[in-house]
Amino acid sequence: EAYLSAIEAANKKLNAYVTVTADKAREMAKASDARIMQGEARPLEGVPLGIKDLFATEGVHTQACSHILDGFKPRYESTVTANLWADGAVMLGKLNMDEFAMGSSNETSYYGPVVNPWREEGGNKDLVPGGSSGGSAAAVAAWLCAGATATDTGGSIRQPAAFTATVGIKPTYGRCSRWGIVAFASSLDQAGPIARDVRDAAILLKSMASVDPKDTTSVDRPVPDYETAVGQSVKGLKIGIPKEYRVDGMPAEIEALWQKGIEWMREAGAEIVDISLPHTKYALPAYYIVAPAEASSNLARYDGVRYGLRVPGRDITEMYEKTRAAGFGREVKRRVMIGTYVLSAGYYDAYYLRAQKVRTLIKRDFEQVFEAGVDAILTPATPSAAFGIADQEMNEDPVKMYLNDIFTVTVNMAGLPGIAVPAGLDSRGLPLGLQLIGRPFDEEMLFRTAYVIE
Ligand code: GLN
Repeated sequence: EAYLSAIEAANKKLNAYVTVTADKAREMAKASDARIMQGEARPLEGVPLGIKDLFATEGVHTQACSHILDGFKPRYESTVTANLWADGAVMLGKLNMDEFAMGSSNETSYYGPVVNPWREEGGNKDLVPGGSSGGSAAAVAAWLCAGATATDTGGSIRQPAAFTATVGIKPTYGRCSRWGIVAFASSLDQAGPIARDVRDAAILLKSMASVDPKDTTSVDRPVPDYETAVGQSVKGLKIGIPKEYRVDGMPAEIEALWQKGIEWMREAGAEIVDISLPHTKYALPAYYIVAPAEASSNLARYDGVRYGLRVPGRDITEMYEKTRAAGFGREVKRRVMIGTYVLSAGYYDAYYLRAQKVRTLIKRDFEQVFEAGVDAILTPATPSAAFGIADQEMNEDPVKMYLNDIFTVTVNMAGLPGIAVPAGLDSRGLPLGLQLIGRPFDEEMLFRTAYVIE
């Protein structure tokens, strides 16, 4: 009830929830109470969560915040949310996001932007919460849920976490099932939690992760009790500092924060080593080939026949065209066009195939560093703090917006786990985050090292 009234009070301003499932929340909470009374409490008993609109929730609107999925109510539940409910969690509603998870500011949502609960000290300008999981981050930061599900294809968990002083982890590709999550770029998409602190993120991930026969890319490995990693000593661990992340024009404040992070790790007993990830600079351009290519193919299914919106035409082709023209927003159309182009005959080898090769090189960079004994890599999470809603520079030039992902996309390209953890405030009083990157399936190392920074 406390969370539902908080949503009632704040959501008009923040626009974090697109659907509130109050009746369902009360019903689930009641069932939870009953289990507690019977002494049968489950690990997340009664914990109220917000769910990113990308996760299919049975009988509850699921639109990926796109007009084209208007009115779509799935008859099935995503594996990740089903895992959470099986552990006793309670659903408060569906959270705003960039349309089909394409964006870094939550401004591409059909339901309008989310407002970051954080503001500049003494300022009254509304800021973005980051994206695409902007609703998840804002809701957690404003206490409109105890934790939230999110997804990350190129940074969509970690960048909004950094912009809102929350903790977000993108686990290893294959750690969580993608079944029932609206597909953006299938070889990069992963689900993970956004939470108020490292311990909460560890507890949530344990419930979300599982092998799933319905997703053949999910991996059959036991899910560790991540919470036990929180608070474990980092003495003697090797923390790598990649020189290629010192990008041109990096603000002095970000550089200083990174330095502080290095000091904290050192004081906690870790050994700091300089490392090189030479193909880093190709990650962003390669990502913006691979992700749109996969998106153009995944989004082919929205044709006005099977889901949501249908705009009638004289024949079926015109119906497709009109539906897609009306149903997709600008950014989604841009991605579909880029993706179709790079996959087309004559360009496939020059763009898509080449980007895939670059991806292998990026992955190899990381493998070499980890083989040399590095336990985790420390970098900034984002190149800046939160920016203003409708920021002219960001919105006029899509490439400026894409640069938000510069520190995060490499992790998706290599399939590795990455966590963003709040590390301080900038001179305007806005949160900044640091990122830790780990070996495949070594999320425990991330919880352990991130806790030192938190
Ligand atoms: N901002 C990136 C993009 O627009 C990443 C989005 C994501 O991780 N879902 O593609």
